Amino acid sequence: MLVAFAAAIVFSVCILLKKRFDQDYKENVFGLSKGSKVLFVTSHPDDECIFFTPTLLYLKNKKLEVSVLCLSTGNFYGQGEKRIVELFKSCENLGIPRERVYCLDKFEDNPNVIWNKEEVSSTVAEYVKKSASCALFTFDENGVSGHRNHIDTLKGVRYFVEENRQHIPLYILETVFVGRKYIQVLDIVWSLLSSWLYPKSKLVVSSMSEYLVGYQSMLYHKSQLLWFRRLYILFSRYMLMNTWKRSDKHDAKTG
Ligand SMILES: [Zn+2]
Repeated sequence: MLVAFAAAIVFSVCILLKKRFDQDYKENVFGLSKGSKVLFVTSHPDDECIFFTPTLLYLKNKKLEVSVLCLSTGNFYGQGEKRIVELFKSCENLGIPRERVYCLDKFEDNPNVIWNKEEVSSTVAEYVKKSASCALFTFDENGVSGHRNHIDTLKGVRYFVEENRQHIPLYILETVFVGRKYIQVLDIVWSLLSSWLYPKSKLVVSSMSEYLVGYQSMLYHKSQLLWFRRLYILFSRYMLMNTWKRSDKHDAKTG
């Protein structure tokens, strides 16, 4: 009872702070103008929901055009075809139409297989062009869950941005340590503190209605709703908030 009360208080504070954040930025925390097109690069169908929902919905509500590039069909247990359909349904619920969701059967969903960074890079190049995107969002060096495919996704995206000297902002999703991962709304305290300490990081927090949309979208990933994932979506802070760092060289030079 006490925990529920504390969570309700923290959640209310978090909504108030979110409104305050929104007032601080004319457009959005990433400085992208209305109507801009952005691309989220994920590894498996359901990543968009489990990890990126707060930001997908935030940018969509700020009138940006969001596309999703999923590099594998998630066929590790032979459910690839089913999972592609689930991805489309989940994205549709998030407000991303099917024509802006690209799911490729090009990279193997397998934590023991290394994805070639040049190949990932050239694939990203193709879909950046196709979606006319001007900013990229993906995992950081630890891939949130530590899955090798997530980490290889970043390596390929980063290679595209840095080695190919593309002038395109790259935002990477911060992996928080396990003690913060599953305390849901209570992590807002730490997240706010770290965003004040590191003002270059960008914190995105969902409202209650956005959170419910994300939760609903996760239910479309029926093949993935095993008991531990149900617990994950209940307790994970990533269903409610995302912290981003900019990763391209441009940012390092300009500060
Ligand atoms: Zn994944």
